[in-house]
Amino acid sequence: MSNFQYADDIRSWGGVLQAKHHVVAPAWRDELTSLVLAGRSANLSLLASGLRRSYGVSGLNPFGGLIDMTGLDRIIAFDHATGILSAEAGISFAALIEFALTRGFFLPVTPGTRFVTLGGAIANDIHGKNHHRNGTLGRWIRGIHLLRTDGREIELTTDDPTGLFAATVGGLGLTGIITRAKIELVPITSTVLDTETIAFANLDDFFALAAESEAAFEYTVAWVDCLATGADLGRGIFMRGNHAQFGPIDMKLGGPRFKVPVPFPGFVLNRYSVRAFNAFYFWHKSHARRKAAIPLAPFFYPLDGIANWNLIYGRRGMYQYQSAVPPQSQVQATREMLQAISASGLGSFLSVLKTFGSLPSPGLLSFPCEGTTLALDFPNQGVVTLRLMDRLDEIVLRAGGRLYPAKDGRMSVKIFHAGYPQAPEFMKHVDPGLSSAFWESIKND
Ligand SMILES: Cc1cc2nc3c(=O)[nH]c(=O)nc-3n(C[C@H](O)[C@H](O)[C@H](O)COP(=O)(O)OP(=O)(O)OC[C@H]3O[C@@H](n4cnc5c(N)ncnc54)[C@H](O)[C@@H]3O)c2cc1C
Repeated sequence: MSNFQYADDIRSWGGVLQAKHHVVAPAWRDELTSLVLAGRSANLSLLASGLRRSYGVSGLNPFGGLIDMTGLDRIIAFDHATGILSAEAGISFAALIEFALTRGFFLPVTPGTRFVTLGGAIANDIHGKNHHRNGTLGRWIRGIHLLRTDGREIELTTDDPTGLFAATVGGLGLTGIITRAKIELVPITSTVLDTETIAFANLDDFFALAAESEAAFEYTVAWVDCLATGADLGRGIFMRGNHAQFGPIDMKLGGPRFKVPVPFPGFVLNRYSVRAFNAFYFWHKSHARRKAAIPLAPFFYPLDGIANWNLIYGRRGMYQYQSAVPPQSQVQATREMLQAISASGLGSFLSVLKTFGSLPSPGLLSFPCEGTTLALDFPNQGVVTLRLMDRLDEIVLRAGGRLYPAKDGRMSVKIFHAGYPQAPEFMKHVDPGLSSAFWESIKND
């Protein structure tokens, strides 16, 4: 217990929760088990933590112990013939990419930031712009070493008959501490992406573009102007791309070009500034060059170019709200959500719309399912913001959809259980020595 350091200011990425924790940061694998056992014998509930890029509260464990895994970041083995890499769970995607690119490989699935760890990405079974091609990250994980808080380390394979592998992929860090994992990397032809940017006038055009693009483009995603109304409702910018066949493989991704030094004052982001930004962005992108060759970093990780970008939401932070709704209700539900947001005037400027493909996710609590996902950032304005998200919950529930725990800061028990029918099965695998703010608010039905 003496190795755990008291910290009173650990903040979720979205900034809506700041809490006290006892933190320990092992540098070597052989320290980890004794630290976990020491924490448990001091009656501390524990939670592994990566680079803390989860927006909401699933990565925090207020008043409990956080095991910062980022020091356990070594590559263990790589097989060039199969692309299978074995690494400690605290390695960042930035480091994995650097290693992979020098060998002509890339990640099979990547989120919109490279500052996540392998363990954190497995625990949320993350998805990327190529979900319709590759599904979630969990489909590419070939094995996991899991440390339970009783000190046992279990090696899990994809055909694990106990169900613990399926509970751990997307398991929010609650089934044990992932110490290392095997991931299958994919060969790429270039770090340059041949891309197309297309403005769409409404949601019908978005769904037509998505359907048309999925066969020919590995990566698809759209930005949507969530404050547009009337005939402009659902307008946005569709981006699609493939690795260039003949481009270079550039090893250098570059660091952030700007830094937000301190939290912005609350008045900077208001309904007028966000509406003006959205209108300008739509106009600007509608007039941009339609076809362009874009390097890997700005294509996949535009926000990584601005260090601490989350501070633009000020001290009160922001909620991210990400839903997924099934194909049969996706058009109606997406329209209703955008109507509710534009009517409230509380929209965000980082609004992402994407269709998920039909490849099944391997985790009991994996978020992606076939249909459409909408991700929105809402500056935290207290009760009005919460009320708007309650309204969105009603639409998601009626549509038979679900919310993404990695992004969540206020999910209700009702919407969690409606969206995750395998939760009772998952609960059988939860390690009783682990917990999180998310789990504390959800686990009692
Ligand atoms: C700019 C930005 C863009 C994003 N884009 C996407 C996207 O496109 N798609 C997507 O799916 N997500 C996206 N995310 C969310 C992000 O990918 C996930 O939250 C990811 O899991 C964060 O990884 P992390 O290492 O920061 O983990 P943390 O946030 O530190 O932890 C996440 C979860 O993993 C658990 N965990 C961490 N390490 C371990 C371990 N070793 N063993 C067991 N459990 C562990 C934690 O307990 C927690 O429950 C984005 C986030 C940001 C900030």
